[in-house]
Parts: sequence; structure tokens; C-alpha cells
Amino acid sequence: MRKLSSRIFVIILSLCVSIGCAACEKKEPESDGVSIVKSDGEIAASFFAFDTYMSVSVRAGEGRDSKGRTGLVSEEQLREIIDEVRRLEMIFSATDPEAEVYKIDHREADEVGISDEIAALIGFSREIYERSEGALDVTAYPLVKAWGFTTGKYRVPDKNELDELLKKVGMERVKFQETSGGSTSSVLLAEIEREGKSTSGSYSITLQPGTELDFGAVAKGYLSKVIVRMLEDMGVEHALLDLGGNIVTIGNKLDGSDWKVGIKDPFGNKDMIGYVSVSGKSVITSGGYERYFTGEDGNIYWHILDPKTGYPARTGIVSATIIGDDPLLCDALSTALFVMGAERARDYYETYGGFEYVLVMDDGSIITSDGLADSLVIR
Ligand code: AMP
Ligand code: MG
Repeated sequence: MRKLSSRIFVIILSLCVSIGCAACEKKEPESDGVSIVKSDGEIAASFFAFDTYMSVSVRAGEGRDSKGRTGLVSEEQLREIIDEVRRLEMIFSATDPEAEVYKIDHREADEVGISDEIAALIGFSREIYERSEGALDVTAYPLVKAWGFTTGKYRVPDKNELDELLKKVGMERVKFQETSGGSTSSVLLAEIEREGKSTSGSYSITLQPGTELDFGAVAKGYLSKVIVRMLEDMGVEHALLDLGGNIVTIGNKLDGSDWKVGIKDPFGNKDMIGYVSVSGKSVITSGGYERYFTGEDGNIYWHILDPKTGYPARTGIVSATIIGDDPLLCDALSTALFVMGAERARDYYETYGGFEYVLVMDDGSIITSDGLADSLVIR
């Protein structure tokens, strides 16, 4: 198994971040695995969560805001953010027996009470499921497990096995209930985005037997939204998040220029195929190279599956990068477009819009959406 290595983490940071390290005060990782680096006008934390390396880097603003804040956060505030990351990990993990999703997947009764966060993400995921005609499907978990992507014990299931598992897959098998007069789940997501929490009712879902949830395709996008909201509430105007190679920016760089975010070369021939200049946007990639194995037949099998066939999605796309304002949408669409292929991706873009994309194809060609002419540099 190969995950996004710390190499890309370094590449992207060195592209985007210019730390004056002579003045750095670096703390060795503490027992909780968090490392915090402070320098003049900048503070950055790195840590491991959601099965990947993450970093949050904050720059001071030029002046003070109306509340007298400089735009920089304290070490304690960064730790508050990391605590929130850990809390969300204990909601969204499908493999930790203490986590909410794990408990839903191992339920005793068909109906289970769920947190506001799960309720909101079910509503959001259902909308993208419908729009993508099932390409993004958070019920694909029985398939993900069968290929061994949750344990690293990889295997190629036979077609009969996949056909049986496909009977357990599909959002139609998940029924959502507002148990005490709460908001509908899309209103709920907006409410959580605004307030950081929900003030309304309680929720449950009823899952058909054998159906299991896995928010691996969207959880980091949701997490990004939460971190951005927390940082903005703290008065931050310039920041860069790297959540396992998914890049999220707040504002621009202090010198007024855009952040330059590299797009990894999925073939590994060079570090990057190019970069995109962004300010206040997210750049989120789904790539076959992120997690895959080579079968005994010599074929490569990767972790992004086509929920219609049960097999890894093979549409000619080897990496799909989405650029947009909303990291949750970008995360969902990077997975969905990968499954849909270039033609359906184009249709989706023309129908719904609200994002840009860069697709790297297996023949090395690069397909981009129309709105990137001024911001994308291919090398
Ligand atoms: P991402 O890296 O955001 O594209 O998410 C990939 C992860 O989502 C995989 O590791 C699986 O856990 C899960 N997954 C794989 N295929 C799908 C799919 N078609 N829809 C939803 N989740 C998927
Ligand atoms: Mg995704």
C-alpha cells in the first residue's frame, strides 16, 4: 500500500510556504504526535489524523481586525482545532470500534440514532449520489472491504462475490428520519456550517440489512470546512491547510500573491504536472496512485471503486483534481468525477458548475475545465 507520502507534503509546503527558519521555534512532536512550529508572523501545526498527515499553517495579517486581533492564533487555539479533528475522527472512522460510523455499521437494530454531523453528511452525500448517478456512493463500504482496502490484506474478489455485495450497496437502502422535528439534512448542513453546531432536533437512519456506511470520500472535505470556520472565527485571514495532500487556503499569501498549489504527477515521473494559483479556494485530488495494489494477474487495483460494478473505476482517469470554494464539494466531486470519466465529468460540470477540474488521463493527456485559463500552469 502506498499513501500520499510526506514527500508531497513537503513539496506543497515548500511551494506555498516560505518560513524564515532562522527564527523558527520548533517543538519536537509530543506524545500526542502533534508538532508545532512558530516563527515571526507564522504558526504551524502538523499531526496525524484520519489515517494521513495533516498540517495547518497560519500567517499573521497586516493589521488588526475590528476586535484588535492580528490574524495569528496561539498554540492553545491550534490545539483546540486538533481536538476538534480528533472528535470528528471518532465520528467518521469506519474502522475504530469506538467511532460512530463503526457502530452504525455494526448495529444491532436496523434503525440507529445518529449525530447531527452524520445526518448532515448523509443529506449532502445523497444529493451528490443523485447528481452523479451513483458514482459517489457512501454505501460502497462492503465493496471497499472485500478488496482489502480497509485492512491492507488485498485480494481480488471474484465476480460472484462482488455481485452478492452489490445487493447491499445504494443510497436507496438508507432511510433518513428526523426523530424530533429537526431540519431536513441539507438545511442542517448549512446550520452546522454557520453556527458550528445544530440547534434543532435529533435524527436517525434505517439501513437495510448488510448496508454499511463509509465517509472516506467526503470526511476530509467536511473536516476542512470545520477547520476553516474555526480559524475564521479566530480572526485568521491567511492560512494553508494540507490534509493528506488535499489543500485548502484561507485568503492569499501575505505579500498579496496567490498560493501556488502543485498537482502531483500520478505517474511519478516528476514531482508535479503543474500548479494552480488560488486564493481562498481548495484544491483536492483523488488519485489511483494514492492507495493501490498489484494483483497476482499483474493488474493494478486502486481504492476508488465503481459502485455499479464493484470493480476499481476504470475510465481512463488516473487523477481528478477539483478546485473550488467549498472543500466538502471538492472532496465529493474528486471521487465522483474519477468514477464518472471525462465525458460524464464534463456533463456534470456543464449542468451544475461551481467548481473547476483537472483530469490526468492514463495516456498522459490532461483535460481541464474552462475556468482555469488564468490560474493553471502545466509544465
Ligand atoms: P477519495 O480519496 O476522497 O477519492 O476517497 C476514496 C475513499 O472513498 C476510498 O478509500 C473508499 O474508502 C471510499 N470510496 C471508494 N470508492 C467510492 C465511491 N465510488 N463512492 C464513495 N466512496 C468511495
Ligand atoms: Mg473525495
